[in-house]
Amino acid sequence: MSVVAMLAAQLVALQGQALELTQPHRPELIGAVAHWQGNAIPYVQQGDSWVTIVGVDLDVVPGKYTAEIELSFADQRVESVSDVVEVRHKDYPTTELTVAPKYVQLSAEDQERSSREAGEIAAIYARLTPTAYWSEPFSAPIPGVSGGRNFGHRRVFNGEPRAPHSGADLRAASGDEIRAANTGRVVLAKNLFFSGNAVFIDHGLGVYTTYLHLSKILVEPGQLVERGAVIGLAGATGRVTGPHLHWGVRILDARVDPFSLLELAAQPQ
Ligand SMILES: [Zn+2]
Repeated sequence: MSVVAMLAAQLVALQGQALELTQPHRPELIGAVAHWQGNAIPYVQQGDSWVTIVGVDLDVVPGKYTAEIELSFADQRVESVSDVVEVRHKDYPTTELTVAPKYVQLSAEDQERSSREAGEIAAIYARLTPTAYWSEPFSAPIPGVSGGRNFGHRRVFNGEPRAPHSGADLRAASGDEIRAANTGRVVLAKNLFFSGNAVFIDHGLGVYTTYLHLSKILVEPGQLVERGAVIGLAGATGRVTGPHLHWGVRILDARVDPFSLLELAAQPQ
C-alpha cells in the first residue's frame, strides 16, 4: 500500500448547500470514499468520473474544510487525495409565524412523543446506504413549482424562537399530487407530531428527501419508488399555518436547501 498526496481541488459552497465531489476515473480504480465532516461517504462511478454528494450544514462555521479522499485500486494500492471546500456565509432572514398553541407550549404527552420521533428521525439520517438508487438528476416534487425559497429562515413561533427552517415550503393546495424527487426507498411513512403526515425517502449515499404536512400518504415503508412517482397528496397536517408542501433534503447530518440539490449535475449510474 502506498499513500501519495496530490494537489487539492478548491471548491466553494454556501452554508446549507449540497455539493458534488468528483474524481477522474483512472486505470484500476475500483472505489473512492470521501471523509467529510466526520462521515465516510462512498463515490459511485459515472462514465469517466467518480461522483458523490456531500452536504454543508446550515450552521457550519464559514472557513476552509478538507475532504480527505481515499482511492482504492484493483492491486490493493490506496491513494489519498484531498479537496478543500471553502464554506461561505449565507444570510438567512428571520420569519415570525403564528400556529396553534399546542405546537409551541407542548403538553407532557406531546413533548414525549416529539422527542421519541426526533430520535427515530436521527436514527434514519445516521444510516448510509452505500450505493445510489438514482440515475437521473433530482427534480422538484411539484412539477414547475416556483418559490419555496424559505430554507434556513430563523423562525419565531408565537413569539418563541425555534429551530431554523430545515426545508423549503412549496405552494400547494390540499389534494395536490406530490412526487418523489428521485428514485429511492421509502424509510418512513406515517404521522409525526410536528411534521404531520410525512414521507421520508432514502436515495442512497446519505441523501434523504422528506415531504411533510400531507393530507394523504400513498406509499409504505420499504417500498422502492421511482423518480416522479406520486407518493402522497399535499395538506395541512402538523405544525402549519395553512396547506403547503414542506420539502426537505438531508445529506446525513447536514441540513441543505433542497433547491441546491436540483442544481447538481450528479447522475450516478
Ligand atoms: Zn416548512
